[in-house]
Amino acid sequence: MRVLLFCLLCLALPAHADSYISRLLNKPVPGGVAVVDLGAGNGTPTASYQGKPVLVVHEQGQRWLAIVGVPLSSKAGSQSLVAKDASGNRTLSFTVGSKHYAEQRITLKNQRQVNPNPADLKRIEKELAEQTRAYQRFSPGTPSNLLLDKPVNGPLSSRFGVRRFFNGEERNPHAGLDFAVAAGTPIKTPAAGKVILIGNYFFNGNTVFVDHGQGFISMFCHMSKIDVKLGQQLARGGVVGKVGSTGRATGPHMHWNISLNDVRVDPAIFIGAFEP
Ligand SMILES: [Zn+2]
Repeated sequence: MRVLLFCLLCLALPAHADSYISRLLNKPVPGGVAVVDLGAGNGTPTASYQGKPVLVVHEQGQRWLAIVGVPLSSKAGSQSLVAKDASGNRTLSFTVGSKHYAEQRITLKNQRQVNPNPADLKRIEKELAEQTRAYQRFSPGTPSNLLLDKPVNGPLSSRFGVRRFFNGEERNPHAGLDFAVAAGTPIKTPAAGKVILIGNYFFNGNTVFVDHGQGFISMFCHMSKIDVKLGQQLARGGVVGKVGSTGRATGPHMHWNISLNDVRVDPAIFIGAFEP
């Protein structure tokens, strides 16, 4: 009876449902991830979404999968992806659902961090461009692991996508995930990668970008200390730096961004802590 039930379930599920990558990472909502089945493929496929290259992986002995970052600003509905292999180009569609994001009110003593002066704005613009260029990098390597390790052990203190009001004024939503951990706690890279940017930024403070391959990029910020050099290759678990409260922060915590195809997505998806 149990065998029969199992088989009936198999028939009811789509062909790629046995994919652990789909099962764990497919959260197609604004700020989430869409796992799109590219099939067995004719040669190694590539994919692009909104004109940007997308991470493509081969699930062991199975199929090619595109791991697409869905922008937080996306509307619910159908979206398309262009896949290319030796047989030519194909347009594949996937459906984006909806997700409600909470609001958070934060009080900052430093009013300049809410309404920066003209000199600050100039600095912020330059720093934003530098960080955007890092997120747009697309290196050929396949990530060492898609299911990521937590960079620190500690409770989550602020989730991704929260709409934030600083001293009553709405600013950009939270682009990453915060962990409440003490200053000085070592931050470990959740997958192998190369250090592609280091900076001391107005909002982010001491910041490190780690490229895990094919546009899958981690960013850690507000650090008290940076322990890596530009271009350094890190093994999974390698220490990037220490937790701090540099930049626009109300106290020590670890802020972690994950980017796919130059889209910031919810890091909680990759550590099994996603909340629909
Ligand atoms: Zn944060």
